[in-house]
Amino acid sequence: MIVVLTGGTGGAKFVDGLRQVIPSKDLTIIVNTGDDLEWWGLYVSPDLDSITYVLAGLLSKERGWGVKGDTFFCLQAMGDLGEPIWFHTGDRDLAVHLLRSKLLKQGKTLSEVSAEIAAKMGVQARILPMSNARVETRVETPIGELSFEEYFVQRWYQDPVKSIRFAGIENAGPAPGVVDAIMSASVVLLAPSNPVTSIGPILAVPGITEALKQTPALVAAVSPIIGNSAISGPAGILMAAQGLPVSIAGVAQAYREFLDLLVVDHRDAKAAEELRQSGLRVHCANTIMGTADEKIELARQILSQAESPASNENAAHAGSDLS
Ligand code: GDP
Repeated sequence: MIVVLTGGTGGAKFVDGLRQVIPSKDLTIIVNTGDDLEWWGLYVSPDLDSITYVLAGLLSKERGWGVKGDTFFCLQAMGDLGEPIWFHTGDRDLAVHLLRSKLLKQGKTLSEVSAEIAAKMGVQARILPMSNARVETRVETPIGELSFEEYFVQRWYQDPVKSIRFAGIENAGPAPGVVDAIMSASVVLLAPSNPVTSIGPILAVPGITEALKQTPALVAAVSPIIGNSAISGPAGILMAAQGLPVSIAGVAQAYREFLDLLVVDHRDAKAAEELRQSGLRVHCANTIMGTADEKIELARQILSQAESPASNENAAHAGSDLS
């Protein structure tokens, strides 16, 4: 069983590659829910949706979120009625938010609801929210504290970030199956998702980092950072706000407690060599997933690296150490 920890857009691209390389039923995806929000009275879980859609073959590749070919009639009508429309929900997307909200109102847990929706969409992989408790990523800025979606989508991550916290995390526990999946995995992969606001909340759920430290599985991550910036979005800004270097070294630092292997871009070959001095296994690959083939190739590379006891690069490094 391959276990993946992920957020939404970067993670969805990565999962898209994996699902084409290994049978979906061998995949368990543990998903960030810190971005969840109440929107028009509905419970929206952007990362669970992106992962469910990608596994169902329904994700819009152009947008990177939402359902492909979706229409936006309801959004337009809500705008006409004077409601906020900064968070874009397509009509088919909205059906999922309606169903999730209905099932939650009936007393089902987020994991039960997520499994039910995934099954209805023909998804064979197991999709697990990180927790069934409400955890909300809050971003402290000079204009006050914002939810992650307010910071990211509504305000285009233009506000300086003072700090980030995960409201409700103290009382949250891992959703059923999360710790077992990590402990019994053959490989645990951290998608190239935002280390602070996508992977960060998952790691902050009491018990999950501990499981990652204890699992006999190899834990590997793909860097969402190339050089000194994120491929997209605010990961760099948020890493800096957390006191992390915006580089592959910063990614390694964020995951230092349990990371066995870091996959970085070829462009970071020099920084990779430096990182290897710390003893971390680092593999260079093309980590930009622009095309379907690139997604598949990255998935193949990380899985073959995870299976091999040491990479060529590290063997070369060991050799240079001895000389
Ligand atoms: P969010 O929940 O929508 O913010 O999604 P994620 O956290 O899963 O994805 C955002 C992260 O994905 C950003 O930090 C990007 O740098 C990273 N990312 C996006 N596209 C790519 C890609 O093609 N390759 C890699 N390595 N990272 C990517």
